[in-house]
Amino acid sequence: MVATLQSLALDRWVEAPGGFVDIPSAVDGKAVARASSAGLDFGAMVRHARDVGGPALRKLTFHQRADLLRKLAAWLGERKELLYKLAGDTGANKRDNAIDIEGGLGTLAAYASRGRRDLPDAKFVVEGEVEGLSKGGSFVGQHILSPLHGVAIHINAFNFPCWGLLEKFAPAFLAGVPVIAKPATATAYVTEALVRLMHESGLLPAGSLQLICGSTGDLLDYLGGQDVISFTGSLETSEKLHAHPNIAKHAIRFVAERDSLNAAILGPDVTPEQPEFALFVREIVREMTAKTGQKCTAIRRIFVPRARETAVVAALKTGLAEVKLGDPRSNDKAMGPLVSRAQRDAVRDQIATLATEAEIVFGDPDNCAGDNIDPAKGAFISPILLRAKEPMTARRIHDTEAFGPVATVIAYDNLDQAIELVGRGEGSLVASLFTYDRAVAEAVILGIAPYHGRILIVDRDCAKESTGHGSPLPNLVHGGPGRAGGGEELGGLRGVFHYMQRTAVQASPARLSALTGVWGRGAPSPIAPEHPFKHDYDCLKIGDTIETASRPITLADIEHFAEFTGDTFYAHMDEAAAKANPFFPGRVAHGYLILAFAAGLFVDPAPGPLLANYGLDNLRFLKPVSPDDSIRVRLTVKQKSPARKPEYGEVRWDVEVFNQNNEPVARYDLLTMSARSA
Ligand code: NAP
Repeated sequence: MVATLQSLALDRWVEAPGGFVDIPSAVDGKAVARASSAGLDFGAMVRHARDVGGPALRKLTFHQRADLLRKLAAWLGERKELLYKLAGDTGANKRDNAIDIEGGLGTLAAYASRGRRDLPDAKFVVEGEVEGLSKGGSFVGQHILSPLHGVAIHINAFNFPCWGLLEKFAPAFLAGVPVIAKPATATAYVTEALVRLMHESGLLPAGSLQLICGSTGDLLDYLGGQDVISFTGSLETSEKLHAHPNIAKHAIRFVAERDSLNAAILGPDVTPEQPEFALFVREIVREMTAKTGQKCTAIRRIFVPRARETAVVAALKTGLAEVKLGDPRSNDKAMGPLVSRAQRDAVRDQIATLATEAEIVFGDPDNCAGDNIDPAKGAFISPILLRAKEPMTARRIHDTEAFGPVATVIAYDNLDQAIELVGRGEGSLVASLFTYDRAVAEAVILGIAPYHGRILIVDRDCAKESTGHGSPLPNLVHGGPGRAGGGEELGGLRGVFHYMQRTAVQASPARLSALTGVWGRGAPSPIAPEHPFKHDYDCLKIGDTIETASRPITLADIEHFAEFTGDTFYAHMDEAAAKANPFFPGRVAHGYLILAFAAGLFVDPAPGPLLANYGLDNLRFLKPVSPDDSIRVRLTVKQKSPARKPEYGEVRWDVEVFNQNNEPVARYDLLTMSARSA
């Protein structure tokens, strides 16, 4: 039965009146679904996202949206078997599907926890410290980030129908920006099922996610300067979309993740007997064949010292010969077909281009055999290994991405040459270097880093726990420069901030502090009638301050502290040596003594709502404290944030320690955990 895919527009599932294209199974060529976006009102979808989805999302705080993502991940986790079942027809085996499905759910969960941990329970982000802008301190500035008021258009590639949607949806949702997603038609039946589950969960605010199955029609005509386009796919389509006049006219944010001729490099130090050699070969075989090579991070160019070329080719041939092709629906270890026969035709054409500069040393693009497969009906292809004939003059091996199980071995004569050749890829997502030599690692990293979003150095010490060439991590950069699309904004909080506008707000300290909810120097700091440590989290007021009494610091204190802690550094113990030091007038108090005495001055000793001190931030000692100086402390409530557990809240206190001349000698943020009102 051929499923008719529907689009989710204006929170309703809509079936097109006609114009369908059939989507064939990768395995046997039979139609599994049909898709069309005919009849969709793209302008109305954009307006719905902006007018309904955006306001609904912006009503929530980052923590509330993060909680929804966490619940969504759990909801999908309980229903994921449906996705595995459907995905068999995309040609992916169980392990490939796990990358897509578990990877997608993991990304949702990672953003949920990032949102809870690193973003405030607020509707905008306060970034960095307050910047003084005037001599007298009455005019200051700070950056805030607020969600764009537009819609995020996500145009996705066919290879990851679940992860591809979720890895872009999660940061946009967390930022507070609604999404219109358009999956690649070849695997849209899996994405449609995923979005149905998301919609059925009831967790998504109205208008926060819409789906287009089929083409995007005139969608881009409706976009403006508050909108964002995030594209994943080929360089060719990316160029076409980027040239849309609306994008230049409204300076629409456009990020692309596209072709990437990723490299693996064997260091000149590695001999076939060393563990790095076997690790190199194993990683290449895995990366060439996982998802039948249809991964943006797959290794396409294999750089080896000329002296090792024969050994590497022989080892790769042995490894690739062990890869069996098969129907992934019944054999979950076999390498499945490409996504479609059309894709196989494209890959064969690309191999023919590569073969103008390289010889095929393993596999036959036109013939393959496997377990229970019919290559005439399914899009099967064997792994293809090529060897560059003249590496220094070859060009097409650096710009032709055969999006299948295809890679080229490229010999180099020295490290400088290897670095130059890697750079000919004009920017990639990822490269891996296999070496156990520090000088090789340093030279290669500095040589190729400007061309890459991510680089792995793999050796015997980290191989066991390395996440591998192919695994971007949600907290690190995902995206690469140049040809790969320039998407350094992607990954972790950068990915969330991509959907937000950074604005410098300049005002008086009082006005700024009232807006951001973060106390800054110069903002009102009324003396609290009662010690703020006696107040629970909910009753503490930003700016509430106490000034302590002062306490002298004697030479005996310093000597006692030195003896007690064992810190007998000469600056505290030896007058002549301390004087010879350019920073000290003579013997001085330990920095840690100042901290300890400061705590002695400001703590309120009785049991109360303040439960624990969990650290200090931004500690600076500003001036030495000499014997017979005295110190006093000003302690101010700087910032409050709810903790993971509802019983507690985190309080950041501004601490400033002064000497008898009212000169600040130390400043830091004290971090405490306080109980919340019952
Ligand atoms: P593609 O043919 O460029 O298609 C990508 C997306 O663009 C699909 O959703 C496609 O929809 C859509 N599209 C095509 N023409 C369009 C147009 N005129 N207007 C609006 N949308 C249009 O790429 P693909 O074959 O799906 O994916 C393979 C490519 O993706 C490879 O080159 C791979 O390197 C790249 N990729 C890169 C990354 C990365 O992170 N850098 C990740 C994954 C994949 P239809 O399917 O309906 O045509």
